[in-house]
Amino acid sequence: MTSETTTPALLREAALVGGRWQASGEDGIAVHNPATGVMIGRVPSLGAAEVAEAIARATEAQKDWAARGARVRAAVLKAWHAEVLAHRDELAAILTAEQGKPLAEAAGEIDYGASYIEWYAEEARRVGGEMLAPLEPGKRMMTLKQPIGVVAAITPWNFPCAMVTRKLAPALASGCAVLLKPASQTPFTAIALALLAERAGLPSGLLSVLTGPAREIGGALTAAPEIRKLSFTGSTEVGSALYAQSAPGIKKLSLELGGNAPVIVFDDCDLDAAVEGTMQAKFRNGGQTCVCANRIFVQSGIYDAFRDRLTTRVKALKLGDGAEPGAEIGPMIDMAAVRKVLEHVDDAVSLGARLETGGTRASELGAHFVTPALLSGVTPEMAVFREETFGPVAPLLRFDSFDEAIRLANDTPFGLASYVFSRDMARILGAMEALEFGMVGVNTGLISAAEAPFGGVKMSGLGREGGREGIEDYLETKYVCLGGLEAAPC
Ligand code: NAP
Repeated sequence: MTSETTTPALLREAALVGGRWQASGEDGIAVHNPATGVMIGRVPSLGAAEVAEAIARATEAQKDWAARGARVRAAVLKAWHAEVLAHRDELAAILTAEQGKPLAEAAGEIDYGASYIEWYAEEARRVGGEMLAPLEPGKRMMTLKQPIGVVAAITPWNFPCAMVTRKLAPALASGCAVLLKPASQTPFTAIALALLAERAGLPSGLLSVLTGPAREIGGALTAAPEIRKLSFTGSTEVGSALYAQSAPGIKKLSLELGGNAPVIVFDDCDLDAAVEGTMQAKFRNGGQTCVCANRIFVQSGIYDAFRDRLTTRVKALKLGDGAEPGAEIGPMIDMAAVRKVLEHVDDAVSLGARLETGGTRASELGAHFVTPALLSGVTPEMAVFREETFGPVAPLLRFDSFDEAIRLANDTPFGLASYVFSRDMARILGAMEALEFGMVGVNTGLISAAEAPFGGVKMSGLGREGGREGIEDYLETKYVCLGGLEAAPC
């Protein structure tokens, strides 16, 4: 933590390797506050040896955990949920320090992350197979749901709490063991969550948090035959590489990858609600979310009014260190992110877009600050249209007809989130069905919840997190055919 603040007790400079805490030495990976550049601490740089140790312990611990039964697993998860909520402010401070988002948003992420633990504590007791209709006398068919076994999870930096709990909670609830590799830029939230899980009574060895070089740890995890599943959230590029690495061992995969979300604003919408919803969908976490609005299509009849209102709202956003009261947008995570935002703005302007506001560095605040931007007159050949900017840039495009909006919205290889603003039910239903995305928000910019299945189609990934579907991703279906049951005719 910065020298001006006290170090939270949960900030532990250590990794958890098969039940053993391994402290970081001076040669560990340094983690910096993206707002101030100040070093927060170090985490160990682990490798294949620690992965092997963690797998050995997880393999033993998983069998025992699965055999304890759903009621015990649910109770441990509930205790973990209570620990997380009891330490909400401390966790939020760690999260803001390493990731940069405003404290209020960080606290919101802790609540949201904790809600997955609670939901899967509840779902643990609802897992069940079925008895099928008898086909012939003396025979019965049934299915069992069993945990996959030892699973690996790799998470990104943009939601250091929620991306972790979205994987760990369903995995542990179903009876799996987990080896987690958190993002190197934001490992401390994950480590604190593991510490709280330990306090809540999670058996030793069941959960490991392995920090270190991604390629080496990812290589060891995908090569290990004991690991039966990999759940990854991050870029499509790395997800695709991990997919290939997992192929020889035929591992199960969940991939939550990049997006390129469209927002379609029809001229019959509630304009105020559409502006607010777009602000939420675009600027949460400084535009660094996979469900962030990346292309905003506005119908001609309200284009000018929408642009003017959105510009006013964007200009009013308060940029600053997330730890400062009132900050609404924090820093970008690193210089590469800053460069991408500036390049996308420059490219759009050079191809004819108009920069209504922002899009410049705010160096007086720190190296990673960029002023929130709004571009109007964007066209499909611009980088802002084709690529995920992952920053605070709102690109506006004008459209005339329903078909044109849907065609432009679907003109991307990605298919994660999409948003529609309209009061016309036929338009809403038509858009819901025609959009090639895993999720559609209608008249809202906030769609994610533990109770709902989150995930994408096309190059945005495989599988779902959250909802009833989320636990299925950690279960195998076993079919059993019982014969010789003469005493049981149909
Ligand atoms: P990233 O570079 O793909 O990194 C994600 C994780 O993968 C990190 O833990 C990283 O470790 C690790 N990693 C990197 N290279 C690896 C390799 N060769 N083998 C194994 N692991 C490797 O992505 P990011 O920049 O952190 O995250 C941003 C991306 O995530 C965006 O595209 C965003 O849309 C996507 N995302 C998707 C969702 C979703 O639910 N669909 C949610 C959030 C984010 P290091 O940190 O050590 O490099």
